[in-house]
Amino acid sequence: MNTQELELHYPWGDSLPGPSECKQVAPGVFWIRMELPFALNHINLWLLQDEIDGTPGWTVVDCCIDRPESRDQWEGLFTQALQALPILRVIVTHMHPDHIGLAHWLCKRFDAPLWISATDFYTARIASLGTHHFGGEGAAGFFARNGLRDEAALQEVRQRQQYFKGLVPDVPPDFCRLLDGHRLRIGGRTWHTIAGYGHAPEHMSLHCPELDVLISGDMVLPRISTNVSVYNSEPDANPLTLFLQSIDRFVELPERTLVLPSHGKPFTGLQTRIRQLHEHHRERLDEVIHACSQSPCSAADVMPILFKRALDLHQTTFALGESVAHLHALWHDGLLVRRREADGVLRFSPSEAATRP
Ligand SMILES: [Zn+2]
Repeated sequence: MNTQELELHYPWGDSLPGPSECKQVAPGVFWIRMELPFALNHINLWLLQDEIDGTPGWTVVDCCIDRPESRDQWEGLFTQALQALPILRVIVTHMHPDHIGLAHWLCKRFDAPLWISATDFYTARIASLGTHHFGGEGAAGFFARNGLRDEAALQEVRQRQQYFKGLVPDVPPDFCRLLDGHRLRIGGRTWHTIAGYGHAPEHMSLHCPELDVLISGDMVLPRISTNVSVYNSEPDANPLTLFLQSIDRFVELPERTLVLPSHGKPFTGLQTRIRQLHEHHRERLDEVIHACSQSPCSAADVMPILFKRALDLHQTTFALGESVAHLHALWHDGLLVRRREADGVLRFSPSEAATRP
């Protein structure tokens, strides 16, 4: 446990649900944990006891990526944990593969509707065609403009066009649109949607005031900081500022709120975690502006400052997107200016406003 985690409280300690088990964490709310074949090796999904149109069953929140192992794990859950009751509704917090991958399979199997924000629904639909922002020539050009010189890494990005499609082969053809401030009736209780930006196009967290439970998705995680990246589909975006503004919306929730994150363990200490995240990014931004004041920096130049560990090619591309996000937060704030230099690389240096005494 790192020192920041010691300030949080994990009500279930290190006890995790087994592969075909679900663990009750609040009345009618159950925790499922599925394996992922990545550095981030698991995702949490949530099962909510429900009844729709007189039929008892389950609302499931998030789905895992589509691969045989995840389908097998679901099959085990259908017969045991779900007590042979159907899935009535699939809610997806956002369009990333570990959350939406199996939505098409679950929705089809149970003839259940998909509930998701419109922005994430359409982004996922386009991405699953295999031509979107996770790879290809456009992404390679974006990384090169931001200072990535490693030809092997660029080549990998060019070839990664099928990355999303490989994990999300399909997305349901229709959906129920979630909007910020929506009130959903689930199992006789009201849940409120809270939109969040900066991590995904339009992420939806779910809060139940009656239970004091927040399904935070990827917007608040206890152990790691949420990935906040700029992608080539929106190359001038400012996701870090959007993310920090978004997590401030959770400040009004009570400190006793049980937070159910997509990665890591359920915890209490929401306000503490939000403060930690602000401090974390404030420190990183200070380091970035300091580096730029020494000499103009590209995103690739600041990457080793933000990520001190060794990164493989795959991690490098994510880290570069995050480095661009930190530079852009300062650039949009008027503290850095951007220049495209003779080598075609975008570099940032302090603006007059930043250097004024
Ligand atoms: Zn995500």
